[in-house]
Amino acid sequence: MSLGDLNQEGFKSGFIALIGRPNVGKSTLINKFIGEKIAITSPIAQTTRNRLKVILTNKKSQIIFVDTPGIHKPHHLLGERLVQSAKRSIGEVDAVLVIFEANYSPGRGDAFILNLIRNLQIPVIIALNKYDLVTLSQFKERKKEYLDFFEGKNWPVVCCSALTGEGCDELINQIEEKLPFGPQLYPSHMTCDHPEKFLMAEFIREQVLINTREEVPHSVAVSIDKIEDIPSKKRSKENSTTGILATICVEKKSQKGILIGKGGSMLKKIGQESRLQIQTLINGNVYLELFVKVVPDWRSKSSRLNEFGYEGS
Ligand code: GDP
Ligand code: MG
Repeated sequence: MSLGDLNQEGFKSGFIALIGRPNVGKSTLINKFIGEKIAITSPIAQTTRNRLKVILTNKKSQIIFVDTPGIHKPHHLLGERLVQSAKRSIGEVDAVLVIFEANYSPGRGDAFILNLIRNLQIPVIIALNKYDLVTLSQFKERKKEYLDFFEGKNWPVVCCSALTGEGCDELINQIEEKLPFGPQLYPSHMTCDHPEKFLMAEFIREQVLINTREEVPHSVAVSIDKIEDIPSKKRSKENSTTGILATICVEKKSQKGILIGKGGSMLKKIGQESRLQIQTLINGNVYLELFVKVVPDWRSKSSRLNEFGYEGS
């Protein structure tokens, strides 16, 4: 189907920013909407560093989600850029989906978010996520707390679970309602605006975060240095392998030691798990070679941040 066929009357399209504190489930929610793994998720905060656009095309609409890094108080240059990036996305979209956690009462971090969205001139939709973690009576109480917290704002509030999918259709309906009329902007089959190379690096970074927990997280960056086709001896396309060379950058020598692990065991584990993810992404065999490099203090160096793709303003 060509783009033109879908520019029919009544079609809606637009950009929706997902806003919320780190770890409220923004990335998980996006993945649930799209039904495939695009935005990386992990139990560790600040996973989503770059602004990733994820595209959901239906018969009636095309919703382009802009996943933003979680909003929090900045502590260093990287933190500042993350917050800038999130704030900037609010200014570029047609509506915002603001996510809070149903399993917590609104707190100080939530007040910071509320201040950002309070006077927005575009539609706001509220999701109370992690609905699966509360009982019905707890939820009733919680919803009341949030409605008081929003101080009479007439925003639609949808409870949902990005994990089980409950409430997610309702959220999509609410978003569709708020979207402006407009043509389809991306081809129907396109679900993500980042090249595969970016996703490969994200999958590797995710495995580093999952496997090393507190010891390494925020000082890690991954670059994909080379992608090559390794033809099979039989010269058939099905059996060929994609060779990928990637570098994991850390700030300290001690972190390099942790990442490599005893006899290389940690790096092997990270490699194996991210290789499986990349194989699913590109639908083919992958040979992955990982290097670990120490770049002291890369988070505070502007040139390094640009190299790893964290744009400044
Ligand atoms: P983000 O920082 O807002 O993008 O949060 P993530 O999507 O990375 O999710 C943070 C953590 O919360 C992950 O461990 C998710 O599995 C978990 N999570 C997200 N949504 C839900 C949910 O609806 N229910 C439960 N129980 N966990 C969730
Ligand atoms: Mg995220």
